[in-house]
Formats: sequence, C-alpha cells, structure tokens
Amino acid sequence: MSENQQNLSTLYDVVIIGAGPSGLFAGTLAAMNQLKACIIESSSEYGGQLTLYREKAVYDMPGFSKILAGDLVKSLYDQYLAYRDKVPLYLNTQAKSVKKEDEYFILTTDHGELKTKTMIMANGGGMFQPRRLDLEHADEFDNIYYYVQKTDIFKQKDLVILGGGDSAVDWGLTLLDTAKSVTLIHRRNDFRAHEQNVNLLKEKATVLTPYQTLELSKENEKSFLMIKHAETNEIQKIKFDHLLVFYGMVPIRERLDQWGMEVEKNAFKVTCALETSVKNIYAIGNSVYYEGKLRMIVTGLGEAATAVGQITKTLYPNKMSVFKH
Ligand SMILES: Cc1cc2nc3c(=O)[nH]c(=O)nc-3n(C[C@H](O)[C@H](O)[C@H](O)COP(=O)(O)OP(=O)(O)OC[C@H]3O[C@@H](n4cnc5c(N)ncnc54)[C@H](O)[C@@H]3O)c2cc1C
Repeated sequence: MSENQQNLSTLYDVVIIGAGPSGLFAGTLAAMNQLKACIIESSSEYGGQLTLYREKAVYDMPGFSKILAGDLVKSLYDQYLAYRDKVPLYLNTQAKSVKKEDEYFILTTDHGELKTKTMIMANGGGMFQPRRLDLEHADEFDNIYYYVQKTDIFKQKDLVILGGGDSAVDWGLTLLDTAKSVTLIHRRNDFRAHEQNVNLLKEKATVLTPYQTLELSKENEKSFLMIKHAETNEIQKIKFDHLLVFYGMVPIRERLDQWGMEVEKNAFKVTCALETSVKNIYAIGNSVYYEGKLRMIVTGLGEAATAVGQITKTLYPNKMSVFKH
C-alpha cells in the first residue's frame, strides 16, 4: 500500500483540498485547533500557483516589504511542518468527487476514499497553464519562457518581457539587477499592474507601449521580435536573448460546477463564513466567489482562518479555538 493510499477507517473532522497558500495555512490552523485533518494535493509539490513564480517578488504580503514567492512558500511550509504528524499532506493525490452519507462525506480521490465530517475546498479553481504566445514558430524557440524557475540563465542577457499585468512588471523589476537589459512591451498604454511598480520600471528599464507583436525570427543564431506601434504603425525589430511572456493563465482542467456546489463565475459561491451551498463544505482562496472578492494570497490566508474557526465552532461548540481572541 503506498504512503498516500486512502481508506475509510479514519473519520476526519476536515479534509482540505489543495496545498496552495490557502490550503497549507488551513492545515496549520486545523492542527492548532486540534482538528483531525489532512491535506490532499494533486501535484507533486505544495505551494499552488506560487510554484509558477518562485523567484518573483511579492510586495503585498503583510509584514514583508518584499518577499520572493519561493521564500513565502517555504515559510508557510516550515510553519506547517511542526504539525505534519497531526495533519498529513498527501501529494500526487487528486480529489475527484464527493458524496454525502448520513453524518459525513465520502471523498473519492485517485488513491481511494476518505470519510470526513467537513471539507475545505482550497483548490484554486483547478490547475492552470500560462497563455501561450500566438505567433508562428513560437514553439520552436527554446529561449521563450512562460514562467521563471531559475534566474541564473538571465545573467547579463538582453531580456524582453511581454505583458502588462503584475507578473510582467514584477519580473521586470526583479530581473533588473541580473539582466544586461530589460525591455517590457505591452499592447496598451494602460497597465493592470500596480501603478507604483509600473512607474518604477519605466524609470529603470525600457517600456514600449502600445505595441503589437508581429513576428519572430532568427538570424545568425540571434533571436528577434518584430513589433508594430498600435497608433503610428511604426515597426521595430528587437533583439533578445530571452523572451518572457506573461499573458495570464488559462484553466487546463476541472470545472468547479462538477462538485455539486453552487458556482458563480466558475468559483464556489460562499457565505461570509466561507460555507458553500452544501452545508459543512467550505471554500477558500482562489476557488471562491463573493462580492468584492480579491484573488490574492493574503485574502486566502484570512479566509482559511475564518473557515477553520467556523468548522471548529460547528464540530466542537464548547472547545476554545486557539485563534479566538
Ligand atoms: C504569476 C502570478 C503572480 C502572482 N503574484 C501575486 C502577488 O504578488 N501577490 C498576491 O497576493 N497574489 C499573487 N498571485 C495570486 C496568488 O498566487 C493566488 O491568489 C494564490 O496562489 C491563491 O492561492 P490558493 O491556495 O487559493 O490557490 P492555488 O495557489 O491555485 O493552489 C491551489 C492548489 O490546489 C491544487 N488542486 C487543484 N485541484 C485539486 C484537486 N482536485 N485535488 C487536489 N488538489 C487540487 C492545485 O494543484 C494547487 O496546488 C499571483 C499569481 C500568479 C499566477
């Protein structure tokens, strides 16, 4: 029997689906509240979307003016590690469906079944993959990247970054000291990224807007990107050593409506206590929709506290939650 083989011999207080920042922190809080819990994660590593941008700086985490996403994942995991024996984390295990029995739920995974009184969906809306660059021959270039794992390869290189969101701008800022040059190209004059960071990048790097990408080419082992100004039609040919494309993410699998809870904008509708339309199934982080919802790490962490607190109160009304002040 493999380490993460599931069976029905244990009745959990709560099973958490997803080990992104929200699920990992929910696991830590469940252990602190002495709930019988486990975390199920479909991929081979914890950290969720942060694993896609480990070396990007995060500027909006309370207590840190700047922290690399990889370091933040490590801190969240280190905090969880103290409770690993109480709340195991099962990697490479995909939650597939849930059905209600009398007093509990049966959760089916690809490693068997689990019995649990409550659940927290921290699955971030499923797995995502980066939107690809839609130019002929793009797949033949081995110097085009959609996420960054190691920054060493960019040392003293000419970088071109495409996109106008936080990822493009934050990576531009993060790589300024590593790269020889950073050029950011965006198809609009307006950016979706934090204004302060856009202004900083404009001071320190070359920012070209509004430009459309036209064509990729190779000449004498060198790579070039042809771009066209959206208003004047002026054409520029830009040489690059590496091209980073940050056009956002597209979902690759799992529609949330398959779970049987009410869904809006492909996210679980929740109450202000983070309970879904099915009693005792909660949802937190990026898989949640409510009016005013922000898809940020910090909101997911706060939602983890609310959901775990609510579950503790529901299952053990006389027990003091450790984070009830
Ligand atoms: C490039 C980029 C830069 C970003 N920068 C910032 C930033 O600077 N600041 C900020 O606050 N936010 C940032 N974000 C957003 C932030 O990463 C997300 O808000 C955060 O990761 C959401 O956390 P989560 O735990 O809810 O979901 P996720 O991080 O998406 O984690 C969900 C986890 O659930 C797992 N899962 C999914 N389905 C199943 C299943 N059926 N069974 C088991 N496991 C499953 C997934 O594998 C994943 O590990 C950024 C996002 C991206 C893509």
